[in-house]
Amino acid sequence: MRRRINQIFRGVEHYFFQNKTYSPTDGLWYWREKIFGGLMLAFLIFGTIAIIPNLAVSIKEQTHVITISDLIVYFMLLGVTFIRRIPLRAKIIIIIVILYTLSIILLVILGPMGPGLIWMASTSLIAALLLGLWASVSTILINITLMLALAFAIHMQWLDTIFFNTYDTMSWIAIGSNVIIFNSLTAVPLALLLNALERSINSETKLKKEVIEKNKQLNEEKIKAENADRLKSVFLANLSHDIRTPMNAIMGFSELLHSEFEEHPRSQSYTEQILKNSNYLNNLIKDIVDISLIESGQVKFELRETALKKLIDDCRSIIEHSQPLHRLPELKLFYELESVTDNQMFMIDSGHTKQVLINLISNAIKYTQKGSIRISLAINDKQLLFKVSDNGIGIPQSEQHKIFSRFSKINRPANKQVPGIGLGLSICKALTQAMGGSIGFNSVEGRGSTFWFSIPAVIQKQGASITDLPQE
Ligand code: ADP
Repeated sequence: MRRRINQIFRGVEHYFFQNKTYSPTDGLWYWREKIFGGLMLAFLIFGTIAIIPNLAVSIKEQTHVITISDLIVYFMLLGVTFIRRIPLRAKIIIIIVILYTLSIILLVILGPMGPGLIWMASTSLIAALLLGLWASVSTILINITLMLALAFAIHMQWLDTIFFNTYDTMSWIAIGSNVIIFNSLTAVPLALLLNALERSINSETKLKKEVIEKNKQLNEEKIKAENADRLKSVFLANLSHDIRTPMNAIMGFSELLHSEFEEHPRSQSYTEQILKNSNYLNNLIKDIVDISLIESGQVKFELRETALKKLIDDCRSIIEHSQPLHRLPELKLFYELESVTDNQMFMIDSGHTKQVLINLISNAIKYTQKGSIRISLAINDKQLLFKVSDNGIGIPQSEQHKIFSRFSKINRPANKQVPGIGLGLSICKALTQAMGGSIGFNSVEGRGSTFWFSIPAVIQKQGASITDLPQE
């Protein structure tokens, strides 16, 4: 039973409130169709209830014109409600005409005793609500004409009904003009308000459409750009990989030649040049491969149980072998690792951690040349914080914002230019962030820089001495 009632409700709702002609993009007409549905439903319920006493009274009073016109109006409204083929605007106009006719009949026959005046005034409101300003103004003009016509009919005493017996010409004009003032004060502002609302709904709908269209375009462009970027990265990674193989051969044979030319210092200086430049080229290619792999999402991160002491020792030996430290006698490296003990094991990605640390130390060497570099490590049970401080040339304040961007080079005086393509730090940042950590620095031009990075690390074996993180 309950299901049945629910079904009926859903059916009624679907019939009267489900739009057939207009969609939300049609602005106010979408809502007018809904309001029209509501009005028709109200008529169906209350009109059906109201017609019974109306008919009873009119039959009893023998006002047959009213009985017949009530029935005609009721059935015509029923027809308008249920004949689907009639377009919405036509339905509205038909209803307005029906209501007008009814109001005139009621007014002329029943005079002030009947609801004729109320219907007349309400018709203007319905017209304003459902058709807009032009319709409400037209109904007011019709009302004025009707009022004058009826005044003339009273003057001529054309009929002998309550209406004609109640009013004389002047009293009818007084009553009629009040109705018209009421009409103008209600229907016109309502129509103006709806007009403004319609304009705003229309412009909002237009904007919405534009935004959706733009968003679609942006999305397509974004996908294209991402695809192009990925392709470029894959291409670079493959290309760079192919270049590195012959490069390694060149470097290997240059080293051989270098040892062969022990007796020929001049030839040795040539092979040294070849080695130096090949080394630079090799690092460059390595950076390009790294950034391409990172950007194309091909870098794999692996957490392994790692002994911190060994990690630092590895970095130390790589730095000592790869950097020309012997040619920089005035540069000293200090490792401040009191907190690192032999048996400390952490779950970290040791390969990438080493890569970041070595990069920061190499930069410090590159941009210091003379003075000291301090490498420190602080541990707590949640993260490791590596710090590389130097007292080198520093970074000008105005350039600091860009140093983590790809291919960013700092503008320096010609005598302080150092070779490099500006990829190292962006690689460090990408790797650190991928490991769940963060990276930062502070620097004063001419006085030095401190670069730091932290990574989350779960301690595996106790016995580590826990220190507070150094203050930045
Ligand atoms: P590059 O390969 O050119 O060194 P990086 O990305 O490693 O590129 O560094 C970007 C810029 O940041 C460098 O051009 C350099 O001017 C500056 N920089 C990096 N580390 C230091 C440092 N320790 N001291 C001074 N400047 C630095």
